[in-house]
Amino acid sequence: MDPKTGEMKDKISAFVVERSFGGVTHGPPEKKMGIKASNTAEVYFDNVRVPADCLLGKVGEGFKVAMNILNNGRFGMAAALSGTMKGVITKAVDHAANRTQFGSKIHNYGAIQEKIARMTVLQYVTESMAYMISGNMDSGATEFQIEAAISKIFASEAAWNVTDECIQVMGGMGYMKDSGVERVMRDLRIFRIFEGTNDILRLFVALNGFQNAGNQLKSLQKAMKNPIGNAGLLAGEITKRAKRKAGFSTGLTLQGSVHPELAHSGELTVKAIEQFGAVVEELLIKHGKKIIDEQFVLKRVADGAIDLYAMVVVLSRASRSLSQGDPTAQHEKMLCETWCVEAHDRVMTDIKSLRSSESRQLFKNMRAISAAVVETGGWSLLTLWVSKRTTLPESESVWSLFRFTLPHL
Ligand SMILES: Cc1cc2nc3c(=O)[nH]c(=O)nc-3n(C[C@H](O)[C@H](O)[C@H](O)COP(=O)(O)OP(=O)(O)OC[C@H]3O[C@@H](n4cnc5c(N)ncnc54)[C@H](O)[C@@H]3O)c2cc1C
Repeated sequence: MDPKTGEMKDKISAFVVERSFGGVTHGPPEKKMGIKASNTAEVYFDNVRVPADCLLGKVGEGFKVAMNILNNGRFGMAAALSGTMKGVITKAVDHAANRTQFGSKIHNYGAIQEKIARMTVLQYVTESMAYMISGNMDSGATEFQIEAAISKIFASEAAWNVTDECIQVMGGMGYMKDSGVERVMRDLRIFRIFEGTNDILRLFVALNGFQNAGNQLKSLQKAMKNPIGNAGLLAGEITKRAKRKAGFSTGLTLQGSVHPELAHSGELTVKAIEQFGAVVEELLIKHGKKIIDEQFVLKRVADGAIDLYAMVVVLSRASRSLSQGDPTAQHEKMLCETWCVEAHDRVMTDIKSLRSSESRQLFKNMRAISAAVVETGGWSLLTLWVSKRTTLPESESVWSLFRFTLPHL
């Protein structure tokens, strides 16, 4: 009960619960795809009486407790999976350096080189995220939930990608149990699900970002109520928006923070940040609080935020290595530049898609396709159509595809 208003509200509280309290039981160990060394079981609570002194934190602050636990788990994933990726890349490289096909070691072929390079970049970005967050934590930061969520999403998808590509580099050998990589793949699959699915975390990242942007807009609205007293602030903000709209720089720069050898990557990052900031504001003005229901939009905003954070993180790490003259500095510079060029392009594509009417139609289509398939219970919609195939000419290209993919029909 709210002591001020007397209003009753449901709030989450966290408790330490001992089996000895009674009413705590669990199901059998689950048979899982991977992480088989860890015992997973459902836990049931039936009329469990919990002593008051078992409360963790304060009444109604259980969500915060849970979030703090999850934050630690999430950021740790980037560190752990960086190691996994190193192991997997070592296997891929060993195979690529020793396997001869068509008269040459396969690492000499561009197709393999691109895979190894991308795997290495993904590992570098993930590890840089782990360094960045732990560095911030060491220096006393307590608000790192968005960064932890981003690093969990990034690390789990990067590790999945790297392992998939390792299997591809190893060809048929990669598919064999003896290679050890299929087990890594099975073990890795859960990382995109537990500690909050990546899909939910993307919504979390985007909505937190919108909340910050919303607060900024609110303070601008407040300033507009006293335009004379806030003339300086308003003039600055109006100029910034006008410049952004015209495609000019707003004056934001990473010069001085980024090593001069990485100036171009810094510029790409600034450009992407400025355009991303503009589109976030446009979306907020357009949807207001209803943005929470726009998951097609939120996903793309989260993808942009993840790419931008990754750009900043690698710029920071590679700049440090260049400044210190580390022996790996030139290699890191290449990793950073490669990441920034591609991430910049992806962010720009996301921005374009968030602004375009074509995308709105695409989202509408996807909603409709999903609704239709859900309504008919899955494949039955297409089965129905395919069952009318006798009326279609044999050469119908769509039908040939179906015949190929669904030979049993
Ligand atoms: C091996 C294993 C170990 C685990 N260990 C633990 C543990 O130690 N402690 C613990 O507390 N939990 C644990 N879990 C549970 C795990 O955290 C959850 O399975 C996970 O968070 C997903 O929740 P869910 O299974 O209820 O999926 P659901 O919430 O049912 O989600 C199903 C799908 O729907 C999507 N979805 C759900 N809601 C929305 C929405 N509002 N908008 C859009 N999409 C949505 C999800 O992203 C997902 O794709 C474990 C799970 C596994 C498999």
